[in-house]
Order: sequence, then structure tokens, then C-alpha cells
Amino acid sequence: MFQKIKPPEGGKFIEVKDGKLIVPDNPIVPHIDGDGIGPEVITAARRMVDAAVEAAYGGKRKIVWWKIYAGIEAEPIYGTLLPEDTLNAIRTAKVALKGPMTTPIGSGWRSVNVALRQLLDLYANIRPVKYIRGIPAPHKYADKVDIVIFRENTEDVYAGIEWKYDSPEAEKVREFLKKEFNIELRPDTGIGLKPISRFATRRIMNKAMEWALKYGRKRVTVMHKGNIMKYTEGYFKIWAFEFAKEKYGDKVVFEEELQGGEIPEGKILVNDRIADNMFNQIITRPWDYEIIVTPNLNGDYLSDAAAALVGGLGVAPGANVGDYIGMFEPIHGSAPKYAGKNVANPTAATLSAAMMLDHIGWHEAANLLRKAIEETIASGKVTQDIARHLGIQPLSTTEFTEEVIKNIKKLGGSS
Ligand code: NAD
Repeated sequence: MFQKIKPPEGGKFIEVKDGKLIVPDNPIVPHIDGDGIGPEVITAARRMVDAAVEAAYGGKRKIVWWKIYAGIEAEPIYGTLLPEDTLNAIRTAKVALKGPMTTPIGSGWRSVNVALRQLLDLYANIRPVKYIRGIPAPHKYADKVDIVIFRENTEDVYAGIEWKYDSPEAEKVREFLKKEFNIELRPDTGIGLKPISRFATRRIMNKAMEWALKYGRKRVTVMHKGNIMKYTEGYFKIWAFEFAKEKYGDKVVFEEELQGGEIPEGKILVNDRIADNMFNQIITRPWDYEIIVTPNLNGDYLSDAAAALVGGLGVAPGANVGDYIGMFEPIHGSAPKYAGKNVANPTAATLSAAMMLDHIGWHEAANLLRKAIEETIASGKVTQDIARHLGIQPLSTTEFTEEVIKNIKKLGGSS
């Protein structure tokens, strides 16, 4: 099944049974180290995860890591940036921890990252945005920001259906529009399509609702620009609401039903905001938003803006999740200027790994990991990306990792 890699000894694969993940005590978890600072932050994250799992379960559970290849590292081994082995390994193992990858200019893939998400149908991009005490955040209410963004990952203008202005295809589409709909476009018009389907809208809304129920969140907001793009973003809102009503009818309440009142006990508020207002709202009233569900492009813009409210890229985790498979990766890129210098901040990669632990149901280890990171940062032990804003002495990547591991041991399984 695998050409150039072999699953490690001593571990078992996670399986899916009756729609649920069955996780052994020794799951095989593939990791793609990535490019630039990737290997440093992923190695650090794995060490912290191992320490948290050990402390939380007293040796009863252990991750069996499996190195797999994608990006620049894969090229000399496989002659391609995204080997079939890698896709098969993730499909088999159901989860993966991934470092950032440099997007090579002029190669076949627009981006290995985008290709991985599309080929594995990881349709939900999940980005929690939460303030960590001790981080110099630019926003006055940073400590009140605790939002999880669910960005649809497969459709919208990101589907890559577009034609260059002077291509025969664009000419054909212009002719078709003129002939069939009497729509006249200028002859030098490039064209892109924005597909948004009921199917994809419902499944991303499902993920957001499941998260709200699992983690006790009270508000799910659908962000869209449906006042202008009525049949794409407008229907994203209509279909998302329709789905919430259909599947979670007894658990949800809509804004118009509340009429400004409190959210009733045991209910989740489902509301919507027009995209431009949403940006305004996360800055002026971030405490009013807990989960935001949105199409691809809005989600891209919003998640970076939201991450900026609470401080740097070095601390922003992310996940790309499908029906069962989850690939967990920091939001930041490969930061080539810091590669190999032992200065990168491994927090984002480690918080992404904590999301992976949650995904497989190892919440005790995930919480311990997050708590140890928070304590380390709050005590002023930080890497240079944060230290320079505070005017304090920075720790190296490995020194920071050691400090977090110390805190994991100190906190033990008590968190
Ligand atoms: P970047 O995220 O690599 O860097 C942006 C800035 O943040 C830089 O100043 C960088 O040094 C700093 N930074 C980022 N992560 C850091 C960390 N963990 N610790 C300390 N400082 C950190 O973005 P970029 O410079 O636009 O992109 C570099 C490369 O990464 C490009 O090839 C891009 O395509 C790729 N990229 C990959 C991903 C991914 O794999 N998911 C995401 C974004 C960018």
C-alpha cells in the first residue's frame, strides 16, 4: 500500500466504526514537518504533546509518530511535492500533524496545502481565536476574544474555476453569456466562478453546530454577503439556517425569536451578520461572537483579522477537518528567514496539536498542554516574536519547549 514509507512498529491505526473514531491507546499519527521553520516547530510540538499525554494518562496512552513527506522534503525522495504515499498515510491514519510549507513558484501545484485539503476533502477549516495572557495584543478587548471560525474549505472563488481574460475559454464563456442571457461583458474581461452549494453549506454548518454542542458554545453566527450575492452567499445563509432548524430544531433559537432577550437555558442562538458588519463587530463587540460560519473567501479574510486582535501569527492554531480525517497545522507559513535558527515560536503548532488531541477525544492531554503553554507565556517566558514587543530577553525554540514541558510536569494530570 505504501511505496517508500512504512507504518511504525508498536502502534495501531485509528479506525472509523458506526460513524465514530475508534482510538487505540497507541495511535499511529503521521507528521509532515514542512519547510522553513516547520521541522523545528513540529519537533517541539511533538515533544510537548508526548509530555502532556504522558502526564495526563500516566503512561497508559502514547502517540506513535510516523514521519511522512510533502513539500520540498518530498521532492528528492518521490520526485513530486505531494506523493500518493502521503495521501494514503493520512487516509489510513485519519489524523496528521502538519508543519507549514513554502509554496514553490512555478510548480504544478498552486499550493501543496490547498491540494492536500482538496484531495482529502477536508472541508472545514477551523480556527480558534483566543487571547493568551501575556501576549502583547493590539486590541483593547483582546482578553474578551474567544471565537472559533469555521471556514468552508472547498468552494467559492477558491474552487479555481477561472479563465484568463484573453483565453479562448473566457471568449467562449462571454459568447455563451451573450447568446443565452443577453449579458454583455467587455472583451478584455477575465472570468471566475463562485460556486456555493447546499450540500457544502449544510456540512460546514453541521461541523459548527457539532462544535457548539460539544464545547457548550451558545452562539453560532453565519457570516455572508448575501445582500449582494443573493444566490451564492445569500443561499449560504438560507441553507445554513434551514439545516440548523431541521437537524437541531429543539436546540436552537433564532435572533428574531429572541427579540433582544436572553438566550434561553440549553439553547444555541443562531444568527447572521453581513460580512462587512462582521468585521466591524469582531472589533467593537467581540464578546457577542463565539462561532462564526462562513464561505471560503470571507473566512480567509476574517480569520487573519481575528487572529490579529489577539496577537501574532506564532500563536494561532488551525485544523482542516473532513467527515473523519483531520489535519492539524499552524496558520503561519514557513518563515524562511528564521529557518534553522532555533528562534521560531512553536506555540501555534503545539496548539494545533492540542486540537488534534481533542479531535481524538484525548481532552485531558489537550487541556493540560494549553494550560502549560498559557502559564509559560504568562510568566514572561516567550520566544523572540513576542519578547521583542515586551522588551524582554527571548527564549530559543528549545528553551521555550523545555519550559512548557516543566509546566506540564508541574501541573500534572490535575488540570
Ligand atoms: P509567514 O507566516 O511564514 O511569516 C509572516 C511573518 O510572521 C514573518 O515575519 C515571519 O517571520 C513571522 N512568523 C510566522 N510564524 C512564526 C513563528 N512560528 N515564530 C516566529 N515568527 C513567525 O508568511 P509568509 O512570509 O507570507 O510566507 C512564507 C512562506 O510560507 C510562503 O512560501 C508561503 O506560501 C508559505 N505559507 C504556508 C502556509 C501553510 O503551509 N499553511 C501558510 C502561509 C504561508
